[in-house]
Amino acid sequence: MGNVQIPIEVSSHQRIPSLESSESFFGKNFTVQHIPALINHLKNETSVNYNMLNSFLSRNFLRLINGEYFLEFPLEAVKYILSLDLCVETEYSIFQAILNWIQHDQCRIVHLQELLKCIRWCYTFKTCYLHIKENEFMIKNLPDELDALSCEPNECRNSCFNSRIKEKHLISLYFLAENKIGMSLYTGDNFWSYCASFDEDDQIPIGVISEEHVVDVIFDSGRTGVRFDLVQKKYRFLDMSGSPSAYYNQLHDCFKPKFDRESSYRAYIQDGVKKIEDWVDLQKNTLIEYKGEMHIICYTQKEQKLYVFLPVEHVHWYNSPFAEHRIHACIVNDVCYIITKSLSFRVFDMLKKTIEKSKPFADMHLSFDDLQMDQHKSNIILLIKSLKKIMMFDTRKKVWTLMGQIHFENKMIALTSTYMPVQFIKKMYAKS
Ligand SMILES: [Zn+2]
Repeated sequence: MGNVQIPIEVSSHQRIPSLESSESFFGKNFTVQHIPALINHLKNETSVNYNMLNSFLSRNFLRLINGEYFLEFPLEAVKYILSLDLCVETEYSIFQAILNWIQHDQCRIVHLQELLKCIRWCYTFKTCYLHIKENEFMIKNLPDELDALSCEPNECRNSCFNSRIKEKHLISLYFLAENKIGMSLYTGDNFWSYCASFDEDDQIPIGVISEEHVVDVIFDSGRTGVRFDLVQKKYRFLDMSGSPSAYYNQLHDCFKPKFDRESSYRAYIQDGVKKIEDWVDLQKNTLIEYKGEMHIICYTQKEQKLYVFLPVEHVHWYNSPFAEHRIHACIVNDVCYIITKSLSFRVFDMLKKTIEKSKPFADMHLSFDDLQMDQHKSNIILLIKSLKKIMMFDTRKKVWTLMGQIHFENKMIALTSTYMPVQFIKKMYAKS
């Protein structure tokens, strides 16, 4: 079924109209403000809507917990969400959600222990466990109780069920014909396994809510997006920014991100890092989503200095269109990697606030527009589109190496790391 657009009306009393059909009520006016009422309405159902709601919460968990609406959710809704098979890279994100919610209202501290049970301790790595235990808020409020509250696989005291830590898949996208995109999956050792082909269809709904088999693949430093329907085998390019129905604008309206001026950081990142307190006129160049928050890397209009804005602090950045493409960038483990138009490579550590500059591509005769940068398994990958060569920057060893080359004739669109629902990839394999 399609993404049916029946606008819902949920008043401040969170009333939900009765639903006779199994059709979705995630309509145009849907925002995450409606989530608690939807949970109440659907939790005892096994309907398409119920699956869609859970899939939405799972995929958008980080966006949700960084938004203002989440902070107002009632305890029951928070518990419901934290118990789902969420799409997270680490259980620390669950802890982060608990902290955000509890710290929003002092009275909620009484629910801390109860909510901590939603963390799947059996699948929490030792480093993550220590990170939680040593958190300032925890030391202050629960100094000794964590060991008794948490559990391990051979002695599970909570409902840990299964690991919800998801792995990203590296995929390649390329044109098979003018209106046909091919998708292959990287299976290791420079081997790409063909998954499926998709036909262009501009009728695919572009709402924030979509079914589990509809996925958005965002690349080109957040500047390009393609929505794939993995069942219908169709795709459409997404309008990313600058109109009410554009991708980032919809994300903003749906999640209402919290603009936290105290934790925002603005700085020039030229030869060193220089923090800026005043407002500066900027050309938005790249809007990068990292851990559910948007970060901006851009140029100042007057001095043309490279500038970072972490995380985004003004709604304005969601609304205005992108300026000319001048940087490739991505963020991995709190470090932002940037390739400028003059092909200088910069590594900006967002925690230590340091910058390293190098020229690893000198003498390689590369052109900025021919490159596409992304990340995979904590490393940076750089596609040289015309040569179909893939370079990799090992972020631990800090060296660039040639990762491989793709051997087919088609015009490359992107290499990108994405949470593709595995069950659909398997199905696509089986059919191809
Ligand atoms: Zn357990």
